[in-house]
Amino acid sequence: MIEVSHLTKQYGNHLAVDDVSFTVADGQICGLLGPNGAGKTTLMRMLSAVLRPDSGRIWYNHGDIHELNEAYRSRLGYLPQHFGCYPGFTGRRFLHYLGALKGLERDHVKERTEWLLQEVGLAQEADRKVSTYSGGMKQRLGIAQALLNDPRVLILDEPTAGLDPRERVRFRNLISALADRRIILLSTHIVSDVEYIA
Ligand code: ADP
Repeated sequence: MIEVSHLTKQYGNHLAVDDVSFTVADGQICGLLGPNGAGKTTLMRMLSAVLRPDSGRIWYNHGDIHELNEAYRSRLGYLPQHFGCYPGFTGRRFLHYLGALKGLERDHVKERTEWLLQEVGLAQEADRKVSTYSGGMKQRLGIAQALLNDPRVLILDEPTAGLDPRERVRFRNLISALADRRIILLSTHIVSDVEYIA
């Protein structure tokens, strides 16, 4: 369970997140809906422990996420809004590389990569360079890297941005299928995304 309590973040004089509180339990998908500039990314970066709030706390299973530190991060999967993937790498190599950066055991990463490539529908394209992928394929690769450590908490910042309608449907289905036994938080400015997924 994630509990967010009176979270506030200010950039200079600009209030980006103003006294936000909510609770999300395992198996739930929580959609953050708001226009550009509403503070969604700021909130997600705080939930990912990348950014510290000015005030307020975030608990994961009753432990403060900054005190849990690595114990929280190891349970976290994060797809940032602008996710950079090395264009010269193939999809498979990219996942192996990210697995190493996350400190996961090598054989486990290899096994997990094959499974994830199937799950996100990239098995046929695994040996193609990422530079040849469509926007939707890159987003699916982004989801795969966020799932390498089988996270209990999955944070997706604008995951459907820039996808064409067909890719969007495919992506929504993928996210819905991932909700079992984990918490998913996703942000979007598209009302139908939230209607369909969250
Ligand atoms: P969203 O993800 O909903 O588009 P953001 O969290 O990116 O919203 O931004 C919320 C507000 O905070 C915006 O007005 C934005 O310009 C401002 N902002 C975001 N990041 C910074 C930063 N690093 N420095 C100053 N202002 C920022």
